[in-house]
Amino acid sequence: MTRFTAWNVFWQGMTGQKGWSRQWRDPAPKAHYDVVIVGGGLHGLATAYYLAKTHGVKNIAVLEKGWIGGGNAGRNTTIVRSNYAQPGNREFYEHSLKLWENLSHELNYNVMFSQRSHVALLHSPGAIDAASRNYNTMRLTGTPDAEIWDLPTLKRAVPHLNYAANARFPIIGAAVQKRAGTARHDAAVWGYARAADARGVDILQNCKVEGISRDGGRITALDTSRGRITAGKVAFAVAGSTSLLWQMAGLGGLPIESHKLQAFVSEPLKPLLDQVVVFGMGGAHFYISQSDKGGMVFGGDLDWYKSYAQRGNLPIVQDVAEAAMSVLPCLGRVKLLRHWSGLVDMSMDGSHFICKTPLDNLYLNAGWNYGGFKASPASGWWFADLIASDRPAPMIAPFDLKRFERGLQIDERGAGPDCKLHG
Ligand SMILES: Cc1cc2nc3c(=O)[nH]c(=O)nc-3n(C[C@H](O)[C@H](O)[C@H](O)COP(=O)(O)OP(=O)(O)OC[C@H]3O[C@@H](n4cnc5c(N)ncnc54)[C@H](O)[C@@H]3O)c2cc1C
Repeated sequence: MTRFTAWNVFWQGMTGQKGWSRQWRDPAPKAHYDVVIVGGGLHGLATAYYLAKTHGVKNIAVLEKGWIGGGNAGRNTTIVRSNYAQPGNREFYEHSLKLWENLSHELNYNVMFSQRSHVALLHSPGAIDAASRNYNTMRLTGTPDAEIWDLPTLKRAVPHLNYAANARFPIIGAAVQKRAGTARHDAAVWGYARAADARGVDILQNCKVEGISRDGGRITALDTSRGRITAGKVAFAVAGSTSLLWQMAGLGGLPIESHKLQAFVSEPLKPLLDQVVVFGMGGAHFYISQSDKGGMVFGGDLDWYKSYAQRGNLPIVQDVAEAAMSVLPCLGRVKLLRHWSGLVDMSMDGSHFICKTPLDNLYLNAGWNYGGFKASPASGWWFADLIASDRPAPMIAPFDLKRFERGLQIDERGAGPDCKLHG
């Protein structure tokens, strides 16, 4: 693997960029692997990396039906934060944020992590009370950068918002996490891929799992578009396709629904917005940041129905545009460059699963809802630990499938068992 240094970046710049080697191999599938990870998104690749690096597992494959990062990993709006108040979530996401803070060094690849603050707008005294409770909890439990801003502070920091007193939802303050921000999603994919490959992981693209063979309570082999592969352990990290793989493995229902989530990017603008800004009020949901290229990157709610498609519908475009106009009216004449959607795995309490399954050698990583990009380093870290040790560490013990049977949901929003309300 080429190691990136200031010197070789300079030297390649001076000599026509001709000396770079491929960043990861394109190996032929082997007949057997000790661990097969299905899904070449961020969670699958991060898991492979930590399995190889931290746990010394040698014979690992990541199977990806398309190209790595072609799913949600390369389709999200790149927000990274750890502003969670529920026990379980707050430790997990704080660990993830700490891993992000060192990820470029860890992977020797610039993931462009930019800690520019996450600013959640508040519109009522009740909302300020609720946010204060959550953010004080964060401060008391190891997330020191949680703040509540009053209106003058917010106006100074984010001057272009619509502060009209007669707005439908007047802005009166904000809940802010200062170490939160954005990272470049495909750089994170490539960084994990090249670092995993350098430790011997076979990344098999265009390799779709089409069938699963079992011998009683164990998976014995995966039938793929590139042939049959036997496996000691199998790990699912397929985001919105989890229920399809689950059925293929002959298992029953899952507390997950697959939904589409759209995102948008505008033409590039001069610097306008220094933070990630989130607006969620009265049925509207909108979040926006500005990419390093200048494009305004934004999104809103889920599409309104379950689906395995990756194409969004137009009413959501209208919804998001309306919310954008109510918060940042200056965007009114900005041209939209592209919009797309991804397939998200919405769980019934809005929290994820990193757990063992009813099959002895099958492990599950799923239920990331809107928020799995920020989770991916910690997800890979703890999923690798589970696969290697075969027992859930305390950090992930709450995130199993049985929590619904025990009545111990991790419902950050208090929204109840409707996955659409956890967006
Ligand atoms: C529009 C949008 C905006 C988002 N914004 C944010 C955000 O700002 N912050 C945040 O934290 N999160 C965000 N998310 C959520 C985040 O992107 C996901 O939770 C996360 O990427 C999911 O994990 P992953 O990267 O492993 O998934 P994916 O990249 O989807 O990886 C799963 C892979 O499995 C592969 N696969 C599926 N079936 C098979 C099969 N049969 N055989 C082989 N391979 C298979 C797929 O091709 C896919 O590449 C957003 C999601 C979307 C769609």
